[in-house]
Amino acid sequence: MFKKILRLIKKYDTIVIARHIGVDPDALASQVALRDTILLAFPNKKVMAVGNGSAKFHYMGKLDKLELNNETLLIILDTPDQKRVDGVDVSEFAYSIKIDHHPFVEKFCDVEYIDDKAGSTCEILLELIENCKLKMNKEIASYLFMGVVSDTNRFLFNTATPKLFRLIANLIEEYQLDDLFSLYQNLYLRPMSEVRLQGYIGEHMIVTPNGVGYIEITNDLINQFGVDSASAGNMINNFNFIEEVYVWVTITEDVKNDIIRIGIRSRGPVINFVAERYNGGGHVFASGARVTSFETALALVNDLDEVCKKYKESIKEESPNED
Ligand code: AMP
Repeated sequence: MFKKILRLIKKYDTIVIARHIGVDPDALASQVALRDTILLAFPNKKVMAVGNGSAKFHYMGKLDKLELNNETLLIILDTPDQKRVDGVDVSEFAYSIKIDHHPFVEKFCDVEYIDDKAGSTCEILLELIENCKLKMNKEIASYLFMGVVSDTNRFLFNTATPKLFRLIANLIEEYQLDDLFSLYQNLYLRPMSEVRLQGYIGEHMIVTPNGVGYIEITNDLINQFGVDSASAGNMINNFNFIEEVYVWVTITEDVKNDIIRIGIRSRGPVINFVAERYNGGGHVFASGARVTSFETALALVNDLDEVCKKYKESIKEESPNED
């Protein structure tokens, strides 16, 4: 499949690389890294990485203005469904490729490569680049490293396989990534205001008897702590490994977009099918949704509570002698 993708890249002189709305480091790193890798190998092509950026990710290179012609190839990264594609209309392109690591939702590109065992889209690109004997430079390698680190939460999950560690070791060695600390700092440096809000969340998270922890982060709270809505929502990744909590949920008011964004994480129960019921989706253990009221958010929490209840029963059955 990688060779087929390379043939298509060779065939088209104009290429647009897009990804999902609500940009995050893996999506952004993958599109900027793929653009720059293609340009290194084929400097005469016009390759654009498009979509809404975020000042927060200034260390991840610059995006481009979309310019189409009749013979443009579209590559969509890190996006399982058409409604979440940012900034392009798939039907306007001569040909389209999807490369993604989310569980399959729908086919909307001519060629699709999905590896839902990969912890990040950047990992798939590392494989593609290695397989197709394409070259990177230190900057591209740094982008891919940060994308992998961010989506795997620093190699925390079972997606951290020997294959991934080999890819990363080769990347660090070949491109002399000798200042990993700076790359981590790009991703994890945060203002005190966010730490204080994190403290608030720890103190006020409600935990149901079945093990769902949830917190409502209202606009008033966001203003009180002086953080932005997106950063508040992202704090969900800091609440893993709490004994009483199997699934945890942030319910964040986003007044600017008139929406309530929900982040969901799990350390056991499968959650993405619940998110799908609420205008959302995602990975088996990391999902998100968008709703329009706190009431609906609490209905989602209720559904997750049911899932947790069944999960707890199932693990009890597996080890009946433990209490
Ligand atoms: P987040 O909590 O935003 O980091 O998202 C975790 C995962 O859920 C990512 O893989 C997202 O692509 C997915 N996700 C988040 N929000 C939505 C949504 N509204 N619809 C579908 N998938 C989502």
